[in-house]
Amino acid sequence: MFDTLSDRLTAALQTLTRKGKLSDADIDATAREIRIALLEADVALGVVKTFIARIKERAKGAEVSQALNPAQQVIKIVNEELVGILGGETRRLSLAKTPPTVIMLAGLQGAGKTTLAGKLALWLKKQGHAPMLVACDLQRPNAVTQLQVVGERAGVVTFAPEPGNGVGDPVDVARRAIAEAKHAQHDVVVVDTAGRLGVDEELMKQAADIRDAVEPDEVLFVVDAMIGQDAVTTAQAFQDGVGFSGVVLTKLDGDARGGAALSVREVTGQPILFASNGEKLEDFDTFHPDRMASRILG
Ligand code: GDP
Repeated sequence: MFDTLSDRLTAALQTLTRKGKLSDADIDATAREIRIALLEADVALGVVKTFIARIKERAKGAEVSQALNPAQQVIKIVNEELVGILGGETRRLSLAKTPPTVIMLAGLQGAGKTTLAGKLALWLKKQGHAPMLVACDLQRPNAVTQLQVVGERAGVVTFAPEPGNGVGDPVDVARRAIAEAKHAQHDVVVVDTAGRLGVDEELMKQAADIRDAVEPDEVLFVVDAMIGQDAVTTAQAFQDGVGFSGVVLTKLDGDARGGAALSVREVTGQPILFASNGEKLEDFDTFHPDRMASRILG
């Protein structure tokens, strides 16, 4: 996903390695290159501005180091700042003191929520948990079946409304699912919710009603990293409408420019917990800001 960005950043920083001592003009020129590379990768403008200002300030004020030459010092600063905008430390999933832990998924249709529910279930199972999936996407035809299919592939139970009872009430399904999870001793419940193609009020209200009914320990905003600048506006709409405690980036295996991945943490203030990079249930892992920064810097 970050091939072009990675190439451009590497090229910008390599120019410095040919120089011994760095002047402010050298730093400004490199900062300009980095700025263009980030903007072309669709990173949100506000994020780019803050990032560049920090790089310039730190690079110009850097102490003379015994261990690193000036170019290496700038590279180190860029790396640290990248890790910073990606969230710094890895943030673990918060688990409830009294099970079940309730994790609610929210996001646009097609973001990868249902697939993620299966991925998360498999991942939780491997960690020794006994997860249960809950089908609260009752709008989209086949959404319930799709969740049941990923649940089966992950080898976990899926709680779904009885077929043939009309559209059904997702809030009621969510409530009954929690009761069932307690009864059947599932320690983690993953609630899949409906998404629309665009942000709309009805979707937000439904998600907020489900949230109020199940009092989740985590609301994870699932966002397709390929949607570019739109990711930022979508994230803000979900933050205002539902609120979320963490982000999951999907489709990092795509060849889009990836700016969303670099903007969403900084713009929403919420950490990225997981990343998905493929259609298979195994294509999923905890998100590590430092590893992602290293991948981007090549
Ligand atoms: P939902 O509408 O949010 O529930 O999204 P789905 O889970 O149905 O996913 C939409 C499409 O994206 C499906 O075709 C998935 O196979 C695909 N998908 C989901 N996650 C990933 C991913 O990480 N990488 C790729 N390449 N495709 C994904």
